[in-house]
Amino acid sequence: MTRKAIYPGSFDPITNGHIDIVNRATEIFDEVTIVVFDNPNKTTLFSFEERRKLISEQFCHLASVTVDVYRGLLVDYAKQKSIFTIIRGLRALSDFDYELQFSLTNRKLASEVDTIFFMTDEKYSYLSSSLVRQLVQFKGDVSAFVPVHVNNALRSKFNE
Ligand code: ADP
Repeated sequence: MTRKAIYPGSFDPITNGHIDIVNRATEIFDEVTIVVFDNPNKTTLFSFEERRKLISEQFCHLASVTVDVYRGLLVDYAKQKSIFTIIRGLRALSDFDYELQFSLTNRKLASEVDTIFFMTDEKYSYLSSSLVRQLVQFKGDVSAFVPVHVNNALRSKFNE
């Protein structure tokens, strides 16, 4: 049996924290599908397509990782693909409330869907996409937080 999982998120942009979760997930799952979700309530820095491209560039060498985008409910995507395991990451206690609500809601909507949590690596415990976006906006150095190609994309975004 092929063990498959979905790693959903906004990934605006993908950071070293996300990458660490994906790398660890590929040790456990045969196929990990990273799915960029469109959240109409969030204004993003990178477009849907830009976020997908930045993730694809990072994982193009890994056959066990695929990247997709979806406008709609996570449970609908899971059912369409017949992948019923969701991966999420946990950093501080503050993530817990949201993740609990998210995972219980998904279970309520589709009882076959379950969520597996990866605890952040302590190196990335404070790292978020929003922190990266704020730093770059004020010309802060984010080279320790994102891969080179993402850093370049951030720089061009703010020089546009
Ligand atoms: P969302 O908008 O769905 O929360 P994100 O792209 O911010 O999407 O995050 C996707 C998932 O990755 C979430 O479960 C989030 O908690 C997790 N995550 C984000 N940054 C880190 C990090 N530094 N370490 C571990 N998990 C993380």
